[in-house]
Amino acid sequence: MHIAIIGAGPGGYEAALYAAKLGARVTLIEERALGGTCLNRGCIPTKAFLAAAERLHDVKNAAAFGVECGEAQADFKAARERKDKIVGDLVRGIEYLMNAGKVTVIAGRGILAGNDDARAVRVTPGGGTEAARDIPCDAVILATGSVPAAPPIFQTDGVQSITSDEALALDRAPSSIIIAGGGVIGCEMGQFFRRMGSEVTIIEMMSRLLPLEDADCSKHIERQFKKERIKLLCSKTIAAVEKNAEGVTVTLQSGEVLKAEKLLAATGRAPAAKNIGLESASIVPDAKGFIPVDGFMQTGARGVYAIGDIVATPQLAHVAAKEGWTAVEHILSAGQAKPMSYKAIPRCVYTDPQAACVGLTEEQAREQGIDYRAGTFNMIALGKARAAGKTEGFAKLLADANDVLIGAALVGAHATEMITTLTLAVAHGLTASQLGACVFPHPALSEAIMEAAHDIHAKSIHKA
Ligand code: FAD
Repeated sequence: MHIAIIGAGPGGYEAALYAAKLGARVTLIEERALGGTCLNRGCIPTKAFLAAAERLHDVKNAAAFGVECGEAQADFKAARERKDKIVGDLVRGIEYLMNAGKVTVIAGRGILAGNDDARAVRVTPGGGTEAARDIPCDAVILATGSVPAAPPIFQTDGVQSITSDEALALDRAPSSIIIAGGGVIGCEMGQFFRRMGSEVTIIEMMSRLLPLEDADCSKHIERQFKKERIKLLCSKTIAAVEKNAEGVTVTLQSGEVLKAEKLLAATGRAPAAKNIGLESASIVPDAKGFIPVDGFMQTGARGVYAIGDIVATPQLAHVAAKEGWTAVEHILSAGQAKPMSYKAIPRCVYTDPQAACVGLTEEQAREQGIDYRAGTFNMIALGKARAAGKTEGFAKLLADANDVLIGAALVGAHATEMITTLTLAVAHGLTASQLGACVFPHPALSEAIMEAAHDIHAKSIHKA
């Protein structure tokens, strides 16, 4: 079985390694760097930058712990070099894994070719310097990912009006930056630039930051941002953008005029499904450009699968990876493959404090008319949170009428690690009683999860 995969982001490269481990012959085609958006322009660079910003923030606030550090300052260039090194090392790590797994990697552009009877990919190696050639294969996985989507009004030019791609490649913090979009990327970038010294304004169309997450998460992140003097303008829409020698002038529909050195459009990402040969297999994207698939990630064309950010599922690296494994299992043993389930996908925001959710939000449970009970617990009541100086945040668990956990939200230090416990619980239909009956370590921030589970039955020990 020969599987050709177009795109080496977390969807494509993990599918390639998994298929190779299961005995398939694999060709992986990538026109930029291995690791895709996630490794080169997304998950990892943002976390490397946020780690620098958090370190600086902690050092600046160390006196409260009895530690005198003098005056701490940001060194943006050093943080950028550290970030670039981490990315470079990880790209080389993937190259090593591809060699070890005997995956054939072709640097170049790939598109779907052939037809339903004879599947193939057409590859133009080396950035167009060599002639295109068709590579016959038994199955194709399309994993071309997504690109930043800024409305034309933003006039993105990569210099004054930028996307996350350019924001992560800057070599100094702008003196001021307006961020359009208060979703995950806008929040992470906003806190990073603020802590590195920029004046930051976040403009969000909806009534709160992180509008897709539990409203209590938004409340806590907004409170922290206000403390750090990040200007938040929610329920506001940008009406006009003007670029000039000093930077950008943004006019809101409300009439307010804002000026900054840079404008960052954190307004979502569009599927990279154009010019990849879909017509050769009669695959028609939906109105937003996403490729329709079934639960096994099959498109309507025989032997053609699509995974990751080009399908209309949560645009997250771990979703792309899991969809890739699902496609591979279906290609290699259709009878045994299990369809994708999106019931328990963790959703993480790596600000300080972090926010992490899984399953339904309280708003969704309410909208769906579910008879649910919520248990909550605030971090400030935990000894570990006090000792570590990480008192901001809470745990909230939702259980249905049968006590089965259907959703959870966490805000606090390490929330993005702690959510794994709740992902396991929601994925496997554990009850709040079962989770609460587990012995949690003490002292630990995760005790908030146990207390919130008990709170569902009004039995939280440390809650009055
Ligand atoms: P991508 O990672 O986009 O990879 C697609 C690859 O295909 C690219 O390398 C591209 O060059 C290549 N390609 C495209 N067309 C062709 C072609 N025709 N021929 C050859 N190659 C092609 N997700 C998280 O889960 N956690 C996070 O913390 C997180 N942070 C993020 C922060 C930012 C700033 C951004 C922008 C995204 C973040 N994401 C995060 C989202 C995550 O990066 C994506 O969901 C993930 O990368 C999608 O994986 P993918 O494999 O579908 O596509």
